[in-house]
Amino acid sequence: MSTQPTVAFIGAGNMARAIIAGLLHNGYPATRIWATGTQAAKLADLDTLGIHTGTDNNAAAAAADILILAVKPQMMKQVCAPLRDAVMQRRPLIVSVAAGIACDSLDLWLGGDNAVVRCMPNTPSQVQTGASGLYANERVSQLQKQQTELLLGHVGLALWVEREELIHAVTAVSGSGPAYYFLFMEAMISAGEKLGLDRDTATALTLQTALGAARMAGTSDLTPAQLRQAVTSPKGTTEQAILTFQRAGLDTLVEDAMQACANRSRELA
Ligand code: NAD
Repeated sequence: MSTQPTVAFIGAGNMARAIIAGLLHNGYPATRIWATGTQAAKLADLDTLGIHTGTDNNAAAAAADILILAVKPQMMKQVCAPLRDAVMQRRPLIVSVAAGIACDSLDLWLGGDNAVVRCMPNTPSQVQTGASGLYANERVSQLQKQQTELLLGHVGLALWVEREELIHAVTAVSGSGPAYYFLFMEAMISAGEKLGLDRDTATALTLQTALGAARMAGTSDLTPAQLRQAVTSPKGTTEQAILTFQRAGLDTLVEDAMQACANRSRELA
């Protein structure tokens, strides 16, 4: 396998496009990327980027060193079944980004004995700031693991988990996590307006504060708790807000919310 494997995406929707954009942005050769969809017309924009596009999933699978399954979970079984022969002949690394579909199911639908990586990405992959949790079945080689890391590294952070069960925890933290921050932003913007700011100002200040806090937490040697303590002077303004959150049981609320998310992820699997 070459150092820049041929990557084929089955399903060229939001998630596939996010990864493709990241690959191209980082100089991955367009000629080594394939993407398929159900309608050629919907792939025209990808076609202009120089990647191979088409409606023939088998042709894409036959060319792939890494086959990325990026269709909706409910479509996966029927999409995999016709790919069996091409996959059994070529033996690409299978990478699925579908929520809730186990490696064993994918392997079974694709004829068995496949190297399968299950990936839980998130939407900030669209702006190359994604966070993906990865699980590899026992057939995935070290080289294939490195190739997966490199590939998903083009759209952000990619970390392995040791047990497939932990993908539910990844879903609760990073898979669904962007929505938690969006919710918190919504609440801060509304509260800012209630305090008298106009909506645009409240929005701009909220978003920049989120970005600044994330950047500080990501670059500092201090933990988030230490950074918080550093900006929380005794009897100061921040302390009043933090105490209000703590009295309302923010920690327990977040734990309950993430537990509910993980439970739902298990139910859907
Ligand atoms: P999407 O609907 O945007 O894309 C799915 C694409 O698959 C569509 O473009 C559709 O035309 C195509 N498709 C359907 N049947 C096909 C077939 N037979 N052959 C080829 N293509 C076919 O969905 P999405 O948001 O990109 O999600 C794709 C997968 O990524 C899902 O399994 C989802 O669980 C997973 N995922 C998405 C996110 C996210 O934030 N969007 C996060 C984590 C995981």
